[in-house]
Amino acid sequence: MTSTAAGNRAVVVRGTILHYLADPGETSNPASWELFEDGALAVDNQGKVAWAGPASRLPHRLRQTARQEDHRGKLIVPGFVDTHVHASQVDIIASFGEQLLQWLERYTFPTEAKFADRAHAREVFGFFLDRLLEAGTTTASVFPTVHSVSVDAFFEQAAARNLRMLSGKVLMDRAPFAPDFLRDASIEQAERDTRELIERWHGKGRLGYSLTPRFAPTSTEAQLAMVGRLLKENPSLWLQTHLSENREEVALVAELFGVRSYLDVYDRFGLVTKKSLFAHSIYIDDTDRRKLARAGSSVAFCPTSNLFLGSGLFDLHATRETKVDVGMGTDIGAGTSYSMLQTLNEAYKVTALQGRRLPAHRGFYLATLGGAKALDLDGFIGNFAPGKEADFTVLDWYATPTLARRVKVAQTFDERLFALMTLGDERAIAATYVLGHAAYRRHS
Ligand SMILES: [Zn+2]
Repeated sequence: MTSTAAGNRAVVVRGTILHYLADPGETSNPASWELFEDGALAVDNQGKVAWAGPASRLPHRLRQTARQEDHRGKLIVPGFVDTHVHASQVDIIASFGEQLLQWLERYTFPTEAKFADRAHAREVFGFFLDRLLEAGTTTASVFPTVHSVSVDAFFEQAAARNLRMLSGKVLMDRAPFAPDFLRDASIEQAERDTRELIERWHGKGRLGYSLTPRFAPTSTEAQLAMVGRLLKENPSLWLQTHLSENREEVALVAELFGVRSYLDVYDRFGLVTKKSLFAHSIYIDDTDRRKLARAGSSVAFCPTSNLFLGSGLFDLHATRETKVDVGMGTDIGAGTSYSMLQTLNEAYKVTALQGRRLPAHRGFYLATLGGAKALDLDGFIGNFAPGKEADFTVLDWYATPTLARRVKVAQTFDERLFALMTLGDERAIAATYVLGHAAYRRHS
């Protein structure tokens, strides 16, 4: 039985249910999650979580009123959250041989120039969002390009799929680091365009506007000051940018702005807030981390990108120890996979190279509730607390022969979960649900 009517989203889904209430940490504190091996998740007719728990305790009224979907033998987790990704860089994934600044010049800027064409933007962003759903990702914080039409195209495609998404026009106006073909014409024009887009999209359905100065080297002081003004004027806006990704970039920022720390550039213009998300944050120190923690700002950990561009190793341990919220980011196109499972697999290796560990429970927390907290969206998504939006992902323990064999010999649930995180990818996503409806099913 199928029902796509917006008014009839009620469903009860059976399967193994896992969600998080807090960060399980490096010791996998079992008080931080709920696991129902034979579980049920009830969604109300608005697409919100009505109830989650052991199937045997499903309230009678829910049993009778909703349609049933059976995923017994599979694992159901909240939809993955990708806290840092460039929808405009779909076509430069797997481009050879450069580090950050040369990568931008050689691959990124030429490909982003094409997004002045709305039809091109719409086609690429449709492809992009379908890849996210195929990877089990239901929310993301997304960079389109400097063109207003690219923001319209992205939000249109997100709205068509009913997804909770953050995005905003990329701001860049500093020569020569922002090339002339991607440069905002003036502060006034950039501000006017941004205000129009906020008016058009911010708070429309599940969409939120994120002020998006690309990174310090591509913005003038005056442009960053304009962003700070907008943020102060409307604290419901988000902010996303990059911070301390690469050594050469950090040296450039020190030279351009004459600051002790890269973060101080953003701080100077009022951009370090509770709604701010800083991608990478590799070359920061404890002073910076404490500043981020005090402000309630967050960091996006993008391991596949950091390894691919040879940027460096993000210190997850130090960042979480100072209580900075961290989410996972694929950072396509410098990142090499849309899969949050593959992103966690690489994150594990980044922690291992620093003599630390990333247990599977912490990994799944970072990819769900941790990401939601990092984006300040945990009031809406991130776990199965009643009233939250019912975006979830169904995972197949037996998706590939290698994964199936490893899972079969595993002694504990944690061991199985770690195998899934390490060996899983898009093939392990059996279905992805948005507000209680299957938006993607593998092999259908
Ligand atoms: Zn990025």
